[in-house]
Amino acid sequence: MRKIAMYGKGGIGKSTTCQNLVAGLAEKGNKIMVVGCDPKADSTRLLLGGLNQHTVLDTLRKEGEDVELNDVRKIGYKGIYCTESGGPEPGVGCAGRGIITSINLLEQLGAYSEDENMDFVFYDVLGDVVCGGFAMPMREGKAREIYIVVSGEMMAMYAANNICKGILKFAETGGIRLAGLICNSRKVDNEREMIEKFAERLGSHMIYFVPRDNMVQKAEINRKTVIEFEPDHPQAHEYRALAKKIEENDNFVIPKPLEMDELEKLLINLGIQG
Ligand code: ADP
Ligand code: MG
Repeated sequence: MRKIAMYGKGGIGKSTTCQNLVAGLAEKGNKIMVVGCDPKADSTRLLLGGLNQHTVLDTLRKEGEDVELNDVRKIGYKGIYCTESGGPEPGVGCAGRGIITSINLLEQLGAYSEDENMDFVFYDVLGDVVCGGFAMPMREGKAREIYIVVSGEMMAMYAANNICKGILKFAETGGIRLAGLICNSRKVDNEREMIEKFAERLGSHMIYFVPRDNMVQKAEINRKTVIEFEPDHPQAHEYRALAKKIEENDNFVIPKPLEMDELEKLLINLGIQG
């Protein structure tokens, strides 16, 4: 079973990209589990055809400790297992803890056991790694391959670089590796070249460049991935191609994060003026 986590700045397109590529993997017969690790709890909406109303934290609050796997795990598109960690009540408690609780519960309930025969588990994780809870999937081998979703916008690259610092920290003790950058285009000038160069400087690679396309929103309004909503659309083929790249990927590295001034130089030299 490959244990994969998607990280990246909020709003960069982690959940959209993750669900679409997972749909591409599922089409080919892979058995997959998606675990949403964002209090927004929208990591599986496009696979389930609507928001999962039973997050792990909600369920624990309502049912107490007496929880079964099917209470927190729903079946979505092509048999994909979908779980949402959920969040604490607004203003109280730590959102990161929800992830820890959730992964531990899934383990206890046997979601990762041999007879489940899972090919992939994907963790879709909120933003930065500043909080220990959000770093949880990186620790203790919960996730081994990290993909960072990024664009050519400075703050997205800044967040990606910070995430690499987190990976570096846990790579020394665990087996966690950076598996690549996914550029989710914001149509920034020279974006492809900039992210390719950035990835190279990190010691990694840009595994795929996903174009920006309004079909993504159209499918989203209909609560579906592009692959399900419009299977023959060019954007659906882009996500299938990304899925294939991930399936075949063997470029796993301990990243070398950049200093802030190096990152700025990269943006100045290759970015807007490039
Ligand atoms: P995150 O999970 O990183 O917070 P989302 O996946 O929720 O981000 O994406 C934020 C918004 O960006 C969504 O409304 C989604 O439709 C849009 N989006 C993501 N990727 C693309 C794309 N390739 N083309 C067009 N819109 C996109
Ligand atoms: Mg998200």
